[in-house]
Amino acid sequence: MKNKVIIVEDDTLLNRAVCKAFTNAGYEAAGALSMQEAQGLLEDGAALMIVDIGLPDGDGFSLCRQVQNSREIPVIFLTARDDEEDMIRAFDCGADDYLVKPFPMAVLLKHAQAVLRRTGEENTKLFCYEDLSIDYERKQVMSRGKTINLTNKEYDLLVLLARNRKKVITKQMILEQIWDVQGAFVEENTVNVTLFRLRKKIEPDPANPVYIKNVFGLGYTFGE
Ligand code: CA
Repeated sequence: MKNKVIIVEDDTLLNRAVCKAFTNAGYEAAGALSMQEAQGLLEDGAALMIVDIGLPDGDGFSLCRQVQNSREIPVIFLTARDDEEDMIRAFDCGADDYLVKPFPMAVLLKHAQAVLRRTGEENTKLFCYEDLSIDYERKQVMSRGKTINLTNKEYDLLVLLARNRKKVITKQMILEQIWDVQGAFVEENTVNVTLFRLRKKIEPDPANPVYIKNVFGLGYTFGE
């Protein structure tokens, strides 16, 4: 399971080629040609999923959502189109990365390694970046040697961003994961206000954030 990669791709040849590349690189690879097959494989868990967006019995996005709702498995999306809308949707449902076909196998493997390294770091109990630290077990945040008192929402927002370091987190994703709204009406301003207060508490200079940065038109990201 630690090394298991599930490949969900209905192009049989590509599926086989990706499985082979992962097996040769020392992973345990399992291929699924549909969402249904993938769900069967997922019962045993996996370290990573590679998911094609266009599948015969649904799209990769819904599979990704199902996975994120039950357990956390990192996902890399494959798509035939270089489409901005697809890319944003992919990040909205929790994708860790995104590749446009055709791609060299070596590049996919590099992306997979990077995602696995990052998610491995996320499983540690203590997060440190510059002068900020988060103790996940004690739910304690320190900045420049001082304990910072955060509300639950502020803490959850910080953890979501920190655990997804270098990933773009969209407002939609924040609303779904922190406020638990699936399309329900929550003022977008709620996110802005919480973010504003959080930055005021943790950023040395909230006008020039070093921790929580804006990604123009997409959302936010943690750190460099
Ligand atoms: Ca396909």
